[in-house]
Amino acid sequence: ITSHVGFSSLPNQVRRKSVKEGFQLTVMVVGESGLGKSTLINTLFNSPVCAPRAAERPRTVAIENIEADIEENGVRLRLNVVDTPGFGDFVNNEDSWNPIIQNIEQRFEAYLSQENQIRRTRMHDTRVHACIYFIQPTGQSLKEIDIELMRRLHDRVNLIPVIAKADTMSQDDVADFKERILSDLEFNGIQIFQAPVYEDDDEESIAEADAVSRAIPFAVVGSTRVVRTASGRLVRGRAYPWGFVEVDNPEHCDFVLLRQMLVRTNLEELRAYTNQFLYERWRSVTLLARGV
Ligand code: GDP
Ligand code: MG
Repeated sequence: ITSHVGFSSLPNQVRRKSVKEGFQLTVMVVGESGLGKSTLINTLFNSPVCAPRAAERPRTVAIENIEADIEENGVRLRLNVVDTPGFGDFVNNEDSWNPIIQNIEQRFEAYLSQENQIRRTRMHDTRVHACIYFIQPTGQSLKEIDIELMRRLHDRVNLIPVIAKADTMSQDDVADFKERILSDLEFNGIQIFQAPVYEDDDEESIAEADAVSRAIPFAVVGSTRVVRTASGRLVRGRAYPWGFVEVDNPEHCDFVLLRQMLVRTNLEELRAYTNQFLYERWRSVTLLARGV
Protein backbone atom coordinates (compact mmCIF):
# COMPACT_ATOMS: atom_id res chain seq x y z
CA ILE A 1 0.00 0.00 0.00
CA THR A 2 1.35 3.41 -0.87
CA SER A 3 0.88 5.33 2.31
CA HIS A 4 3.54 7.97 1.91
CA VAL A 5 2.59 11.37 0.66
CA GLY A 6 5.48 11.84 -1.70
CA PHE A 7 7.50 14.69 -0.21
CA SER A 8 10.69 12.73 -0.21
CA SER A 9 10.46 12.49 -3.97
CA LEU A 10 10.38 16.25 -4.44
CA PRO A 11 13.19 17.52 -6.64
CA ASN A 12 16.21 18.18 -4.42
CA GLN A 13 16.31 21.90 -5.01
CA VAL A 14 12.67 22.39 -4.13
CA ARG A 15 13.02 20.19 -1.10
CA ARG A 16 16.02 22.04 0.20
CA LYS A 17 14.21 25.35 -0.16
CA SER A 18 11.07 23.98 1.44
CA VAL A 19 12.91 22.45 4.35
CA LYS A 20 14.80 25.65 4.98
CA GLU A 21 11.67 27.76 4.97
CA GLY A 22 9.74 25.16 6.92
CA PHE A 23 7.63 23.34 4.40
CA GLN A 24 4.03 24.28 4.67
CA LEU A 25 0.95 23.80 2.56
CA THR A 26 -2.58 24.86 3.38
CA VAL A 27 -5.41 23.12 1.59
CA MET A 28 -9.08 23.99 1.97
CA VAL A 29 -11.95 21.72 0.98
CA VAL A 30 -15.28 23.20 -0.09
CA GLY A 31 -18.52 21.77 -1.43
CA GLU A 32 -21.99 20.58 -0.57
CA SER A 33 -22.56 18.32 2.43
CA GLY A 34 -21.95 14.63 2.12
CA LEU A 35 -19.70 14.72 -0.95
CA GLY A 36 -16.77 13.14 0.86
CA LYS A 37 -14.67 16.16 1.80
CA SER A 38 -13.62 14.96 5.24
CA THR A 39 -13.05 11.46 3.90
CA LEU A 40 -10.78 12.74 1.12
CA ILE A 41 -8.66 14.66 3.59
CA ASN A 42 -8.19 11.49 5.59
CA THR A 43 -7.30 9.63 2.44
CA LEU A 44 -4.92 12.33 1.29
CA PHE A 45 -2.88 12.28 4.44
CA ASN A 46 -3.68 8.68 5.16
CA SER A 47 -4.29 9.34 8.78
CA PRO A 48 -7.53 10.20 10.48
CA VAL A 49 -6.70 13.92 10.69
CA CYS A 50 -10.36 14.73 10.65
CA ALA A 51 -12.77 12.12 11.79
CA PRO A 52 -15.24 11.22 9.06
CA ARG A 53 -18.88 11.61 9.78
CA ALA A 54 -19.87 8.83 12.09
CA ALA A 55 -23.34 8.01 13.33
CA GLU A 56 -22.60 9.41 16.77
CA ARG A 57 -20.64 12.38 15.50
CA PRO A 58 -22.49 15.37 14.20
CA ARG A 59 -21.37 16.40 10.75
CA THR A 60 -18.90 19.20 10.23
CA VAL A 61 -20.72 22.31 11.38
CA ALA A 62 -17.91 24.80 11.73
CA ILE A 63 -14.73 25.46 9.82
CA GLU A 64 -12.08 23.20 11.26
CA ASN A 65 -8.40 23.73 11.02
CA ILE A 66 -6.28 20.62 11.25
CA GLU A 67 -2.53 20.71 11.37
CA ALA A 68 -0.56 17.59 10.80
CA ASP A 69 3.20 17.31 10.99
CA ILE A 70 4.32 14.62 8.67
CA GLU A 71 7.79 13.27 8.36
CA GLU A 72 9.01 11.17 5.54
CA ASN A 73 12.60 10.08 5.12
CA GLY A 74 13.73 12.87 7.39
CA VAL A 75 11.75 15.59 5.61
CA ARG A 76 9.42 17.40 7.95
CA LEU A 77 6.23 18.92 6.65
CA ARG A 78 3.49 20.95 8.17
CA LEU A 79 0.19 20.21 6.50
CA ASN A 80 -2.62 22.53 7.27
CA VAL A 81 -6.08 21.41 6.30
CA VAL A 82 -9.16 23.58 6.42
CA ASP A 83 -12.31 21.50 6.46
CA THR A 84 -15.50 23.43 5.84
CA PRO A 85 -19.07 22.49 6.67
CA GLY A 86 -21.07 21.50 3.65
CA PHE A 87 -23.63 23.95 2.45
CA GLY A 88 -26.92 23.34 0.75
CA ASP A 89 -28.58 22.73 4.12
CA PHE A 90 -29.28 26.35 4.79
CA VAL A 91 -32.24 28.29 3.56
CA ASN A 92 -29.91 31.13 2.80
CA ASN A 93 -26.62 29.88 1.45
CA GLU A 94 -24.86 33.17 2.04
CA ASP A 95 -24.86 32.13 5.70
CA SER A 96 -22.60 29.22 4.92
CA TRP A 97 -20.55 30.95 2.22
CA ASN A 98 -19.61 34.07 4.14
CA PRO A 99 -17.63 32.25 6.84
CA ILE A 100 -15.61 30.50 4.12
CA ILE A 101 -14.75 33.76 2.34
CA GLN A 102 -14.03 35.43 5.67
CA ASN A 103 -11.72 32.60 6.67
CA ILE A 104 -9.71 33.01 3.47
CA GLU A 105 -9.47 36.77 3.96
CA GLN A 106 -8.52 36.50 7.63
CA ARG A 107 -5.56 34.44 6.53
CA PHE A 108 -4.53 37.17 4.08
CA GLU A 109 -5.01 39.69 6.87
CA ALA A 110 -2.78 37.73 9.23
CA TYR A 111 -0.05 37.67 6.59
CA LEU A 112 -0.42 41.39 5.93
CA SER A 113 -0.03 42.28 9.57
CA GLN A 114 3.18 40.26 9.73
CA GLU A 115 4.49 42.08 6.67
CA ASN A 116 3.74 45.36 8.36
CA GLN A 117 5.81 44.58 11.40
CA ILE A 118 9.02 46.55 11.54
CA ARG A 119 11.10 43.49 12.19
CA ARG A 120 9.96 40.79 9.85
CA THR A 121 11.41 37.62 11.23
CA ARG A 122 10.11 34.34 9.94
CA MET A 123 6.81 34.75 8.18
CA HIS A 124 4.14 32.34 9.25
CA ASP A 125 2.14 31.62 6.10
CA THR A 126 -1.31 30.24 6.79
CA ARG A 127 -2.85 31.45 3.52
CA VAL A 128 -4.92 28.93 1.58
CA HIS A 129 -2.69 27.64 -1.22
CA ALA A 130 -5.23 25.33 -2.80
CA CYS A 131 -9.00 25.07 -2.61
CA ILE A 132 -10.40 21.71 -3.59
CA TYR A 133 -13.94 22.23 -4.79
CA PHE A 134 -16.21 19.18 -4.68
CA ILE A 135 -18.75 18.76 -7.46
CA GLN A 136 -21.60 16.30 -7.07
CA PRO A 137 -21.29 13.41 -9.58
CA THR A 138 -24.52 14.22 -11.40
CA GLY A 139 -23.25 14.15 -14.96
CA GLN A 140 -25.41 17.21 -15.56
CA SER A 141 -24.55 20.86 -15.92
CA LEU A 142 -22.95 22.59 -12.97
CA LYS A 143 -25.47 23.70 -10.37
CA GLU A 144 -26.22 27.36 -9.94
CA ILE A 145 -25.17 27.08 -6.29
CA ASP A 146 -21.69 25.87 -7.29
CA ILE A 147 -21.28 28.56 -9.92
CA GLU A 148 -22.26 31.20 -7.39
CA LEU A 149 -19.79 30.05 -4.78
CA MET A 150 -16.94 29.43 -7.20
CA ARG A 151 -17.45 32.98 -8.48
CA ARG A 152 -16.76 34.21 -4.98
CA LEU A 153 -13.74 31.96 -4.58
CA HIS A 154 -11.84 32.05 -7.84
CA ASP A 155 -10.08 35.37 -7.39
CA ARG A 156 -9.10 34.55 -3.81
CA VAL A 157 -7.76 31.00 -4.06
CA ASN A 158 -6.28 28.51 -6.48
CA LEU A 159 -9.47 26.68 -7.35
CA ILE A 160 -9.10 22.97 -8.05
CA PRO A 161 -12.43 21.40 -9.04
CA VAL A 162 -12.91 17.69 -8.42
CA ILE A 163 -15.70 15.26 -9.21
CA ALA A 164 -16.71 13.81 -5.86
CA LYS A 165 -17.40 10.08 -5.36
CA ALA A 166 -16.30 9.29 -8.88
CA ASP A 167 -16.77 5.58 -8.12
CA THR A 168 -20.49 6.16 -8.58
CA MET A 169 -20.05 7.02 -12.27
CA SER A 170 -18.85 4.96 -15.21
CA GLN A 171 -15.52 5.96 -16.74
CA ASP A 172 -17.21 7.13 -19.93
CA ASP A 173 -19.62 9.28 -17.97
CA VAL A 174 -16.72 10.73 -15.99
CA ALA A 175 -14.96 11.73 -19.20
CA ASP A 176 -18.09 13.44 -20.53
CA PHE A 177 -18.75 15.11 -17.21
CA LYS A 178 -15.22 16.51 -17.11
CA GLU A 179 -15.69 18.19 -20.47
CA ARG A 180 -19.03 19.55 -19.44
CA ILE A 181 -17.65 20.97 -16.20
CA LEU A 182 -14.75 22.65 -18.00
CA SER A 183 -17.02 24.25 -20.56
CA ASP A 184 -19.50 25.37 -17.88
CA LEU A 185 -16.66 26.95 -15.93
CA GLU A 186 -15.35 28.71 -18.99
CA PHE A 187 -18.79 29.90 -19.99
CA ASN A 188 -19.30 31.38 -16.52
CA GLY A 189 -15.91 33.06 -16.47
CA ILE A 190 -14.63 31.01 -13.55
CA GLN A 191 -10.90 30.67 -13.49
CA ILE A 192 -9.42 27.47 -12.13
CA PHE A 193 -5.80 26.72 -11.32
CA GLN A 194 -3.96 26.01 -14.55
CA ALA A 195 -1.31 23.40 -13.95
CA PRO A 196 1.57 24.59 -16.13
CA VAL A 197 3.63 22.30 -18.32
CA TYR A 198 7.16 23.58 -18.94
CA GLU A 199 8.42 22.41 -22.29
CA ASP A 200 12.04 22.83 -21.24
CA ASP A 201 11.71 20.36 -18.37
CA ASP A 202 13.08 16.86 -18.59
CA GLU A 203 10.88 14.32 -20.32
CA GLU A 204 9.64 12.71 -17.13
CA SER A 205 8.59 16.01 -15.57
CA ILE A 206 6.79 17.05 -18.75
CA ALA A 207 4.87 13.78 -18.79
CA GLU A 208 3.95 14.17 -15.14
CA ALA A 209 2.84 17.79 -15.48
CA ASP A 210 0.90 16.93 -18.60
CA ALA A 211 -0.93 14.06 -16.90
CA VAL A 212 -1.90 16.31 -13.99
CA SER A 213 -3.04 19.14 -16.20
CA ARG A 214 -5.15 16.88 -18.43
CA ALA A 215 -6.89 15.18 -15.50
CA ILE A 216 -8.48 18.35 -14.09
CA PRO A 217 -11.25 18.25 -12.82
CA PHE A 218 -9.90 15.22 -10.98
CA ALA A 219 -12.30 12.33 -10.50
CA VAL A 220 -11.68 11.43 -6.89
CA VAL A 221 -12.56 8.53 -4.64
CA GLY A 222 -11.88 8.64 -0.94
CA SER A 223 -11.51 5.76 1.48
CA THR A 224 -9.13 4.76 4.21
CA ARG A 225 -10.54 1.24 4.37
CA VAL A 226 -8.09 -1.41 3.37
CA VAL A 227 -9.58 -4.25 1.37
CA ARG A 228 -8.13 -7.43 -0.07
CA THR A 229 -8.57 -7.89 -3.81
CA ALA A 230 -9.30 -11.22 -5.46
CA SER A 231 -5.60 -11.56 -6.24
CA GLY A 232 -4.79 -11.04 -2.57
CA ARG A 233 -3.38 -7.51 -2.78
CA LEU A 234 -4.20 -5.11 0.05
CA VAL A 235 -5.53 -1.85 -1.31
CA ARG A 236 -7.37 1.21 -0.08
CA GLY A 237 -10.70 1.25 -1.78
CA ARG A 238 -14.42 0.83 -1.88
CA ALA A 239 -16.06 -2.53 -2.34
CA TYR A 240 -18.75 -3.23 -4.93
CA PRO A 241 -20.50 -6.46 -5.84
CA TRP A 242 -18.47 -6.52 -9.06
CA GLY A 243 -15.13 -5.68 -7.45
CA PHE A 244 -13.17 -2.85 -5.90
CA VAL A 245 -12.56 0.71 -6.83
CA GLU A 246 -8.99 1.30 -5.75
CA VAL A 247 -8.13 4.73 -4.44
CA ASP A 248 -4.42 4.48 -5.27
CA ASN A 249 -4.85 2.98 -8.72
CA PRO A 250 -4.58 5.67 -11.42
CA GLU A 251 -6.63 3.47 -13.73
CA HIS A 252 -9.54 3.61 -11.31
CA CYS A 253 -9.56 7.28 -10.36
CA ASP A 254 -7.47 10.47 -10.25
CA PHE A 255 -6.75 10.47 -6.53
CA VAL A 256 -3.04 9.80 -7.01
CA LEU A 257 -2.77 12.63 -9.53
CA LEU A 258 -4.48 15.08 -7.19
CA ARG A 259 -2.13 14.18 -4.36
CA GLN A 260 0.85 14.35 -6.66
CA MET A 261 -0.19 17.77 -7.88
CA LEU A 262 -0.48 19.15 -4.37
CA VAL A 263 2.65 17.79 -2.79
CA ARG A 264 4.98 17.48 -5.73
CA THR A 265 4.22 18.60 -9.28
CA ASN A 266 2.63 21.97 -8.56
CA LEU A 267 3.50 22.55 -4.93
CA GLU A 268 5.74 25.54 -5.56
CA GLU A 269 3.42 27.04 -8.18
CA LEU A 270 0.43 26.87 -5.87
CA ARG A 271 2.42 28.70 -3.21
CA ALA A 272 3.94 31.21 -5.60
CA TYR A 273 0.66 32.04 -7.36
CA THR A 274 -1.03 32.56 -4.00
CA ASN A 275 1.71 34.90 -2.86
CA GLN A 276 2.47 36.82 -6.01
CA PHE A 277 -0.94 37.09 -7.53
CA LEU A 278 -3.94 36.21 -5.34
CA TYR A 279 -2.59 37.77 -2.16
CA GLU A 280 -1.20 40.80 -3.97
CA ARG A 281 -4.54 41.50 -5.61
CA TRP A 282 -6.39 41.22 -2.31
CA ARG A 283 -3.79 43.40 -0.66
CA SER A 284 -3.95 46.25 -3.15
CA VAL A 285 -7.74 46.28 -3.23
CA THR A 286 -7.92 46.18 0.56
CA LEU A 287 -5.34 48.89 1.14
CA LEU A 288 -6.96 51.09 -1.47
CA ALA A 289 -10.34 50.67 0.21
CA ARG A 290 -8.75 51.63 3.52
CA GLY A 291 -7.20 54.68 1.98
CA VAL A 292 -3.69 53.58 2.86
P1 GDP B 1 -18.47 15.66 3.76
O1 GDP B 1 -19.78 16.08 4.32
O2 GDP B 1 -18.27 16.26 2.41
O3 GDP B 1 -17.31 15.90 4.67
O4 GDP B 1 -18.56 14.08 3.49
P2 GDP B 1 -17.97 12.86 4.37
O5 GDP B 1 -16.52 12.72 4.17
O6 GDP B 1 -18.47 13.03 5.76
O7 GDP B 1 -18.67 11.61 3.64
C1 GDP B 1 -20.06 11.47 3.54
C2 GDP B 1 -20.41 10.02 3.19
O8 GDP B 1 -19.96 9.69 1.88
C3 GDP B 1 -19.77 8.99 4.11
O9 GDP B 1 -20.71 7.96 4.34
C4 GDP B 1 -18.59 8.46 3.32
O10 GDP B 1 -18.24 7.14 3.64
C5 GDP B 1 -19.10 8.56 1.90
N1 GDP B 1 -18.01 8.77 0.94
C6 GDP B 1 -16.92 9.56 1.11
N2 GDP B 1 -16.12 9.53 0.03
C7 GDP B 1 -16.71 8.70 -0.87
C8 GDP B 1 -16.36 8.27 -2.19
O11 GDP B 1 -15.33 8.64 -2.78
N3 GDP B 1 -17.23 7.40 -2.81
C9 GDP B 1 -18.36 6.98 -2.20
N4 GDP B 1 -19.14 6.13 -2.89
N5 GDP B 1 -18.72 7.36 -0.97
C10 GDP B 1 -17.91 8.22 -0.30
MG1 MG C 1 -17.17 16.98 6.49
